[in-house]
Amino acid sequence: MKRRVVVVGSGAGGATVAKELASAGIDVTLIERGARVEGKDAFKCYANVHSAVEIMRAFCLGGTTMVSVGNGVRTLREEIQQFGIRLNYEEVERDLGVRLLPESLIGEGTRRIAASAEKLGFKVERMPKFIAAEKCTQDGRCAFGCPSSAKWTALNFVESAERSGARVLTEMLVEEIVLRGGEVKGVLARSSTLSHKLKIHRSGRCCPFRRCFRDAVASAKGFAAHFFVLSFR
Ligand SMILES: Cc1cc2nc3c(=O)[nH]c(=O)nc-3n(C[C@H](O)[C@H](O)[C@H](O)COP(=O)(O)OP(=O)(O)OC[C@H]3O[C@@H](n4cnc5c(N)ncnc54)[C@H](O)[C@@H]3O)c2cc1C
Repeated sequence: MKRRVVVVGSGAGGATVAKELASAGIDVTLIERGARVEGKDAFKCYANVHSAVEIMRAFCLGGTTMVSVGNGVRTLREEIQQFGIRLNYEEVERDLGVRLLPESLIGEGTRRIAASAEKLGFKVERMPKFIAAEKCTQDGRCAFGCPSSAKWTALNFVESAERSGARVLTEMLVEEIVLRGGEVKGVLARSSTLSHKLKIHRSGRCCPFRRCFRDAVASAKGFAAHFFVLSFR
């Protein structure tokens, strides 16, 4: 029997898993709580968590990558290895199109900061970016949603998964994970556009999605979080 997999969330993580599994011939259903929006409209999907720190994210197809600023930095090599994963950074960079942007795309503000930093004795390097220079219109709207599709987003991987046969369900919130004998058997999701609940492979005990996620995080050894600082004037 063909293996069937449900992937919850279509951001950097979910879209990558969906693309890889679908291209390996696995039957994939990708479920996303947000809508399919045009890149330029991604800012409408911000759904910040207001806690002691502001946690910014976006609920839409492609997830938070739709509002990322395109920095492709190699991080967490050791932490990832603790999970037994030997990440091939070159392959990831090729898939995302990570490169150094040409000098011509460096804005006046960045030039001034770089010049001041160099005067203070710091070594300044260009940030590797997953942005196609030839498409970039340099209007600085990466964090609002790229109007010219110059930036890689997880939407590219979602579309690749779709081409390999994955089903993509949007505006569908996964609320419960169905467990049987300690194994995940499916999910229970609610649609915001249809007035019914969707059951996928339901045949067991249900665990609220947030609680399952919290338990999984709590039991994960070496769980790593990557903080990103934005400042506004
Ligand atoms: C402004 C900004 C700029 C950034 N710039 C960069 C950058 O330059 N470089 C970089 O590497 N990183 C950057 N990041 C961080 C990067 O975007 C995130 O680390 C990455 O997107 C996280 O991937 P993820 O799959 O874990 O989550 P997300 O990309 O947030 O995806 C999660 C998805 O799951 C969906 N979802 C959640 N719960 C459910 C549910 N119950 N049912 C169905 N769907 C659900 C959400 O709607 C979302 O689409 C930036 C982040 C922000 C906010």
